[in-house]
Amino acid sequence: MTAPESSRLAPLAGAGIDRAADERAEPGLLDHIRADPAARVLVVVGDTAPLSAPDTLHWVAPSAVPDGGEWAFLGRGPDGVALLLAAFSEADDRAFDAPAGWGSLRVIGGGLGEHDATAFVTALSLGRWLVDGRFCPACGSLLMLADAGWSRRCPACGRQHFPRTDPAVIVAIRSARDPDLLLLGSNAMWGANRFSCFAGFAEAGESLEATVRREIWEESGIRVASVQYRGSQAWPYPRSLMVGFLATAVDDEAARPDGEEIVAVRWFTRAEIGAALAGDGDVVLPGRASIAHRLISDWHAGAA
Ligand SMILES: [Zn+2]
Repeated sequence: MTAPESSRLAPLAGAGIDRAADERAEPGLLDHIRADPAARVLVVVGDTAPLSAPDTLHWVAPSAVPDGGEWAFLGRGPDGVALLLAAFSEADDRAFDAPAGWGSLRVIGGGLGEHDATAFVTALSLGRWLVDGRFCPACGSLLMLADAGWSRRCPACGRQHFPRTDPAVIVAIRSARDPDLLLLGSNAMWGANRFSCFAGFAEAGESLEATVRREIWEESGIRVASVQYRGSQAWPYPRSLMVGFLATAVDDEAARPDGEEIVAVRWFTRAEIGAALAGDGDVVLPGRASIAHRLISDWHAGAA
């Protein structure tokens, strides 16, 4: 597989902060940084974070964060400043100052700078696990935080637990017959005229390449001749790693929806995709924060 150049990384896929993973095992690191007024904290509540402007996250000093929450060391910013996460569940009281309101990752993620985008997707991915995974899946005991928030240990059975990531493929299908045609599907849970790439989780024991072929066949009736890796993106809804591919159909005419998950499939011309990307017409494509948008726009630009 050939990875796209770094300048064409998918949205939210960059390395905008230094994770400083080598610091995590330092005893007392989290308490030490929480006492540092120079540290900066990103508060997340559910899938939202506070904003200081429509495209900028609102970072605060540790003392400004309400009591409670689940804390972790996110890493270090470009100036070496320590970055922390304080994660709250959606049920918690959101009595916290957000100068420009609250933004969800899926809505604002595509418009953030690399630093904030990386921090937000990392904070959500880690924060959801910290909020939801307090008990040992093996024995039910209350777990103890370790590695500055990046793992938990069970005091009863000794197991160590890490944030779980579920790999999923997301695929745009191009025509072998006509280079100006791209196949997209419409999900049963979406509104009419909303189309995107085909996607599905890797099953136990399955390679990503096999997942692409199975999902495309199940959802669209298409066999694919080639599968090209195009990049990946963490997508914490709730804990996916979306692995993007561009596949080439063997037989365009075989396309048909599965009628359950996918209710419509449609070959779009390059001009139709261009119009939809520009917001013209009725067709709605995925938002800029998603790797699906990147797969489609790359194909449209002839970069794929
Ligand atoms: Zn246990």
